[in-house]
Amino acid sequence: MNGEPDRLTCQTHATDAVAPGTAERTFDVLVVGGGPAGLAAAAAAAEAGVRVGIADDNPRLGGQIWRGDSTLAGHGLPGLVVHLPSTRIVGQLGRGRLLAEMAGGVAVLSYARLVLATGARELFLPFPGWTLPNVLGAGGLQALVKCGLAIDGKRVIVAGTGPLLLAVASYLKKRGAVIAALVEQAPWARVLKFGLGLFVHGKLGQALSLRWQLRGVKLLHGHWIAAAQGNDRLRSVTLTNGARCWQEPCDYLAVGYGLVPNTELAAHLGCELTPLVRVDERQETTVPGVFCAGEPTGIGGQEKASIEGTIAGRSATGRRADLGREFRQRARAHRFAADLNATFSLRDDLKSLPRDDTIVCRCEDVSWGQLRPFESWRVAKLQTRCGMGPCQGRICGPALAFLCDWQPESVRPPVFPARVETLAAT
Ligand SMILES: Cc1cc2nc3c(=O)[nH]c(=O)nc-3n(C[C@H](O)[C@H](O)[C@H](O)COP(=O)(O)OP(=O)(O)OC[C@H]3O[C@@H](n4cnc5c(N)ncnc54)[C@H](O)[C@@H]3O)c2cc1C
Repeated sequence: MNGEPDRLTCQTHATDAVAPGTAERTFDVLVVGGGPAGLAAAAAAAEAGVRVGIADDNPRLGGQIWRGDSTLAGHGLPGLVVHLPSTRIVGQLGRGRLLAEMAGGVAVLSYARLVLATGARELFLPFPGWTLPNVLGAGGLQALVKCGLAIDGKRVIVAGTGPLLLAVASYLKKRGAVIAALVEQAPWARVLKFGLGLFVHGKLGQALSLRWQLRGVKLLHGHWIAAAQGNDRLRSVTLTNGARCWQEPCDYLAVGYGLVPNTELAAHLGCELTPLVRVDERQETTVPGVFCAGEPTGIGGQEKASIEGTIAGRSATGRRADLGREFRQRARAHRFAADLNATFSLRDDLKSLPRDDTIVCRCEDVSWGQLRPFESWRVAKLQTRCGMGPCQGRICGPALAFLCDWQPESVRPPVFPARVETLAAT
């Protein structure tokens, strides 16, 4: 791709036939993911007057951060962009064609250029009691409350690592929850240094505002959850700093150890991973015509996602000029991301939490004791079915990468569990 907006042509392969009656839609630029990165990419691509589609597996746009907020959904998106709601890309049908599962059926989406903006999910680490009802991901509990779960008067402990904990605790507090403690595994000295650096990143005001909203909440640094107790549901958690342990009663535990980039679709399309999706200056992956923006290129927050989306959307329509300002903004966002990831890197103490009877693969009920004898993800998978359930290793895979340094070897289609009807369409 070079200089001026180029003529975008869809290249499809006649051999990738689909069942008669399967809907086919064609776009010059197709964006997968409707979070900040995808929205910015779609808006930037639409400036060139080409046919742009944006597919997201949620009914509404906004991604993880703006989910459910009708004032932010559709954020600056020009009317001519086609929104494909509740549309999940489950595989590739050949170059330039994706198989999509929609609420009402199956579709084939063809594109000349593709922008992957598939975001991230939470990292969960196993500890005794983590499968009890009311132990949830931090972002997961927030999403449930946004969807109507009543949290008023409930005692909640928010734990794990990273600034998402502050955002979640503040949101739950506003919704009436009693935040019994906010438990951050990173040591106080590191968090303080990061906090002081926020001035340079222009985010000090935002951080102070969050801290003010959490006034009165017990904030523990260098602490983590050692175990959760309860019978039918969660009743209390054991907190520790490595030297001493004690129990705190609570109704909910919202626990998240940072984010894991959703790179499976990029891997399936043949993009090189490092393990992040490798992109060039224009956000183009190693597969020509396939761009990537947001969390799959590196965890870094909404501003990084949005600016990378803008660059990807413009580049996808061949407009290379006038990106100097965006490149500078992206460099700033990357510096912030580097500080963020260094500050909230995970302590080794978390590796010793699972006991032999602690479930690691929740889909297939595989315990830590069953997994420990194996030396690789592949062998463990073959012997125990670990990672072979409905989530396809999305939860236990990253946990085992942290616990044992096991890396999944391949991504197989469909990248998400799909209906038989969807597979039959191919
Ligand atoms: C659970 C959770 C809660 C969060 N809450 C906050 C918060 O409160 N405040 C905050 O500052 N940051 C929050 N973040 C972080 C925030 O999401 C990121 O910082 C940033 O907004 C990411 O933008 P993005 O566009 O890269 O990805 P996302 O916002 O994650 O958007 C990606 C979208 O792509 C969709 N998608 C993925 N794969 C497919 C596919 N195959 N087919 C179709 N659609 C697909 C996803 O469902 C999602 O809607 C949260 C993250 C998570 C995981």
